[in-house]
Amino acid sequence: ERIVNQDADLSELSFEQSLRPQKLEQYIGQEKVKDNLKVFITAAKLREETLDHVLLYGPPGLGKTTLAAIIANEMGVNIRTTSGPAIERPGDLAAILSGLEPGDVLFIDEIHRLPRAVEEVLYPAMEDFCLDIVIGKGPSAKSLRIDLPPFTLVGATTRAGSLTAPLRDRFGVLSRLEYYNEEQLKQIVIRTAEILDTEMVGSAAAEIARRSRGTPRIANRLLRRVRDFAQVKGDGRITMELADYALELMQVDRLGLDHIDHKLLKGIIEKFRGGPVGLDTIAATIGEESHTIEDVYEPYLLQIGFLQRTPRGRIATELVYKHFQMEMPAKKK
Ligand code: ADP
Repeated sequence: ERIVNQDADLSELSFEQSLRPQKLEQYIGQEKVKDNLKVFITAAKLREETLDHVLLYGPPGLGKTTLAAIIANEMGVNIRTTSGPAIERPGDLAAILSGLEPGDVLFIDEIHRLPRAVEEVLYPAMEDFCLDIVIGKGPSAKSLRIDLPPFTLVGATTRAGSLTAPLRDRFGVLSRLEYYNEEQLKQIVIRTAEILDTEMVGSAAAEIARRSRGTPRIANRLLRRVRDFAQVKGDGRITMELADYALELMQVDRLGLDHIDHKLLKGIIEKFRGGPVGLDTIAATIGEESHTIEDVYEPYLLQIGFLQRTPRGRIATELVYKHFQMEMPAKKK
């Protein structure tokens, strides 16, 4: 099972829930995003207005859902949570919108996956806080306008690029979340260990941070597994040795790459002489969906310079050969 798998089971979900910081100041890292939000939230509160609509984008597990809840909390309003694929028909969205209290935050995860017809209901709702409903069909059809309470839409997406322009343009605040550095991840791991009441040496926290692919969700998951090992194989304390041992068994290498990353990178090297090779071809070779590779696996590999995206496909860089201690083939003509 993959550590960066997005299909978390129930125990994972409640685990994550229990770790979510509630306030902006407990949210580690993303300083630029936080600073901006702090200003907008303070200003909105001073004017006693609802906060402008916010779009959060960036790879999975970086804290978009967490931030949405913090925004609601800081504004002192309720949050309703849903997701793009869950809203199938315009009526579903109309029901959600008309059930909101004034000022509420509506969080739509994976907002790029909203059906087109639903998206169109969202435009006037975001812009004028109203619903345009068409009753009847053909020449006798009538259009009806219903007022909505003012609300803040917080949308989250892994790719801002796959949002339609009219939807993207209706967000007043666009915030891109970045991968976390090791120091920030170490702080997150230490914070989580405290919440879990687990004793841990600093070097072990740093090691978990180093292998977390810049992603808090992965850091917390690794910590949870390491903690299991510490309880079963040791006295519950997380030592450096124990962390190393557990991470080794989980097949997470020293850069945080796991067996699927290895399969992907080695596939490009061994079957395609390092590329360029198209995304769909890679996907077929390693038996994963193209969009999963694009959203989940590839962004970090691009970030650390292991992959390059070119018009002709993906290329494995020299760093990959070094990492696997492999000879790089002579340059092709
Ligand atoms: P996303 O919605 O981007 O996929 P989540 O908001 O669900 O990510 O975050 C995943 C996990 O990581 C949560 O359990 C959350 O507690 C933790 N987390 C994310 N960002 C931070 C942060 N900045 N500080 C502390 N914990 C964080």
